[in-house]
Amino acid sequence: MKFFINLFSKPIEIPLTITSSNGFHLRPVAQFCHRAKSFPAKITASFQGRSVDAKNITSLLSLSLDKQDTVILKAQGKEAQQAIDSLQELFSNLMQKETEIQVVQKRASLYQRPSIEGDIIYQGIAIAPLYAFETTHTQEETTLSYREALAHSIDALEAMYLSKNDQSDATIYLAQKELLIALGERCHTLEALENTIAIECQQLKGSTLASKISDYQDILHQVQSALGYTTTLLLPQTPSILIADDLLPSHIALLTKSHIQGVILRHTSINSHTSILLRASAIPSLILDDAQLIPSEEVILDSYTGEVILHPSQEDKQKAKASQKIQQSKDALSYEKRFESTATKAGKTIQVFANVSDVASAKHAKQEGAEGIGLLRSEFLFQAIKPTLEAQTKAYQEIFALFEDITVRTIDVGGDKALPYIDIPVEKNPFLGVRGIRLCTTHPEIIQEQFHAIFLASQNRKSTHNLKIMFPMVSTVEEFNKAKTLAQHTAQKHHIDISHIDFGIMIEVPSVLFLIRDFDKVVDFYSIGTNDLTQYLFATERTHPLLKTDALSPVIFSAIQSILTQTTKPISICGELASNPQAIPPLITLGIKTLSVSSKMIARTKERVRSV
Ligand code: PEP
Ligand code: MG
Repeated sequence: MKFFINLFSKPIEIPLTITSSNGFHLRPVAQFCHRAKSFPAKITASFQGRSVDAKNITSLLSLSLDKQDTVILKAQGKEAQQAIDSLQELFSNLMQKETEIQVVQKRASLYQRPSIEGDIIYQGIAIAPLYAFETTHTQEETTLSYREALAHSIDALEAMYLSKNDQSDATIYLAQKELLIALGERCHTLEALENTIAIECQQLKGSTLASKISDYQDILHQVQSALGYTTTLLLPQTPSILIADDLLPSHIALLTKSHIQGVILRHTSINSHTSILLRASAIPSLILDDAQLIPSEEVILDSYTGEVILHPSQEDKQKAKASQKIQQSKDALSYEKRFESTATKAGKTIQVFANVSDVASAKHAKQEGAEGIGLLRSEFLFQAIKPTLEAQTKAYQEIFALFEDITVRTIDVGGDKALPYIDIPVEKNPFLGVRGIRLCTTHPEIIQEQFHAIFLASQNRKSTHNLKIMFPMVSTVEEFNKAKTLAQHTAQKHHIDISHIDFGIMIEVPSVLFLIRDFDKVVDFYSIGTNDLTQYLFATERTHPLLKTDALSPVIFSAIQSILTQTTKPISICGELASNPQAIPPLITLGIKTLSVSSKMIARTKERVRSV
């Protein structure tokens, strides 16, 4: 009865005026919605004739409130007055603390000479000549002839051109297509094409048309790929900045041991595995979509300011070196504090865990200050040859001895991670095919053996230590139940007690967002895989060379918020968003308490948390 009286009571309204020059952006909106939700009253925000639910982050963000805009906040029902008072106070605090967003944006450019701006993969500074991606090739079986491969490549360039519509870079693909048609008429074998392109490139070097070199290399690569060639990276003998369209994840390990100081990629996204590995290797790197860069020219790669400075002056180089030094000492300071626990200014403790892939990376994570392992990407233990039960057990034992809190993700292959001995039929859309937990149905023996190894290795662990098994790519509760049952049967068969092991899921398939209450009845924990969740929410392949998604889209935060409001189970984030300096404040505001990041990002992530 009281409810009805309150509902029909007069609404309370107040105007709120945005005074921050940053507008009412993501971080304050997240805090505002969070507070609004703690009240039972119906709360709306109205602006320019549109009225939205003030408890919903995406709705509130959709008002796009800028400095000087006045929004009408209205509350009705139970605790309406308290809600208005509390939100008014919070709003005025948020408006006063407006500088935060500036800190995390790209830094202002310091340089005199012209620069090209890009998207930051990993922040750092490199000053060196550019080195064009170069490879040697090995050929796999292919059914395509050279002529067919040529026709296929021409079609692909045409498709790329058409997909670009009237965008400024569309003509590049048109030019490449025309170039390939012309070369194809002259060259009747792949060898002839390679020789001709090598000669053309040699002649172009140092000329005003030197930027065309990358076009030639691009089209040759297209034809080679169509013919099933695999490429091996050739590395420079002196300090250099690598420029490439994209790299294979396997290339990154080679870079860390080479003279490469920085990387510029043309066609990748910040969520691709290549980008993840560049961050994990702490290589200063940028994405420049349309970089007309000339190999062997000296440039500054400043991925703090997000730019490449062409023909830098002496003064530019001095500035870059000074900035590098400052950053190095800041990094050194946060690095010194890497073993300290981490709390926000308000005293909220945040755990910073590591994403690792094998024994060596787990040991490295320990040295880098990880408080636990939030994601063991176990598929990396499974390389070209399937490891034996003994080898798997040994690896888990060594990893388990390092930390008290460990989450092992069961093998996550398929999509962009293939394994030669796991026979998955050719799929039209591998990202929508046999991936992750789906292997429990297609290849149960592999998962059972993995469970067995994990269980054997866990026997020596103290029962007070947390061991969690996490399933990837789960889309239904039934899938989880089936996988857990498989685990229980394996344990029974080998007479191993697994009562101390928790079972949970990655949240990376959008269906889970609508099933949280059902999952809550069966899982022990969750970890949000924002890399795949983003790809599936936007139907945009995470490795797609042309398409990009906004890693900081309000959609992602809204999804996270919706999970947090429905679950009562422990939850962490292990996707790349967890170490994104712009995402950390809103994630903490939404209620995330555990971030799992690549080892090299631990010290920086902890430092960022301390600044919130
Ligand atoms: C993710 O999808 O966010 C994730 C952490 O898993 P992976 O990047 O290994 O697919
Ligand atoms: Mg994933």
